[in-house]
Amino acid sequence: MKKINPNLRFGTLSIHAGQQPDPSTGAIITPVYQTSTFVQPGVADPVDGYDYARVKNPTCEALEGNFAALERAKHGIVFSSGLAAIEAVVKCFSAGDHIICEENTYGGVTRLFTQVLSNLGLEFSFVDTRDLNKIEEAIRPQTRLVHVETPTNPMMRICDLKSIAQMTKTAGCLLMVDNTFASPFNQQPLTLGADLTVHSSTKYLNGHSDIIGGILALNDSELADQIRFVRKSTGGVPGPMDAWLCLRGTKTLHVRMERHNQNGLAIARHLENNRAIEHVIYPGLESHPQYELAKKQMNGFSGMVSLDLGNPQAAKKFAESTQLFQLAESLGGVESLISVPALQTHASVPPALREKMGVTEGLVRLSVGIEDIDDLLEDIEQALG
Ligand code: PLP
Repeated sequence: MKKINPNLRFGTLSIHAGQQPDPSTGAIITPVYQTSTFVQPGVADPVDGYDYARVKNPTCEALEGNFAALERAKHGIVFSSGLAAIEAVVKCFSAGDHIICEENTYGGVTRLFTQVLSNLGLEFSFVDTRDLNKIEEAIRPQTRLVHVETPTNPMMRICDLKSIAQMTKTAGCLLMVDNTFASPFNQQPLTLGADLTVHSSTKYLNGHSDIIGGILALNDSELADQIRFVRKSTGGVPGPMDAWLCLRGTKTLHVRMERHNQNGLAIARHLENNRAIEHVIYPGLESHPQYELAKKQMNGFSGMVSLDLGNPQAAKKFAESTQLFQLAESLGGVESLISVPALQTHASVPPALREKMGVTEGLVRLSVGIEDIDDLLEDIEQALG
């Protein structure tokens, strides 16, 4: 077996990290270990700890190793969805513990925290994490975790990861970063001081809109064991076929992200010149209020673009008039998608909070795919027309 040097460059790691030719045949691609259990040579004597697939599966482990290398982490832990990954981290805490969460996080996270986990006695505060003072004010002796998303969904807020990491270290709590919008190609939060990175691997990591998955990266081995214990106890593991598909996706992450970055920027710039649009929000535009911070902590700005058309009717008409941009929730696939967050992905966020953050019914979110840019621009033009 040849050894992979973990200091290789991103594109090389995407293809090789975490994988070895199959020991039984030399197959270059990790097989789909589609099995629920493993035969043990003696009682309570599993081979390499493989006793039951809720605990360990070689296909899932290959994806974990590959993803950990991309996030420059020691450990990767896969889950059946992004929400299952976030839930497993929070379930390491106890009733009375306190979690601070970015207020403009994905709507499903708000729902998980306010409608499910708060019933178990965990306490949550939602703050604008762009403002370091607001985080500092929210920290209590019982605070265990600060959960941020950057860029946020769908307002593309950017928070200062290095400064927040310093703050959480001083306060003795953890910093978890939802890196779904950026992908590890564009941003590696652990290298900026975060303790955990989480992804909905449903999105850019897999990249082909054909699985639901989640994944965590971290360096602390004790915490990784605790999270794996929660996963084993609650059961949120992915099926091996989904892990295999995601592993196939991560092999082309660097190539796809380059094109997502180019297309996203081209579309954002194009929309900015259109008078029908009140406001275009994209971290790679000079007009973004945190453009300088985005440039400092990101290597590229991905394919997520939001635009405000000023009223619900215009947003609905636009979203229903595109031909290439399919009207669907989700993001990060090779195909372009369009949605109206207030009525779709963020419908579960209380209306007052939505309004406060600018998630109006006139706001449209684009997930710009990797099609030919001129076809995408023509589609947008005809729909706006
Ligand atoms: N985080 C972000 C930023 C998301 O957009 C989503 C889903 O859209 C999630 C987490 C939840 O992931 P999943 O749908 O895989 O559970």
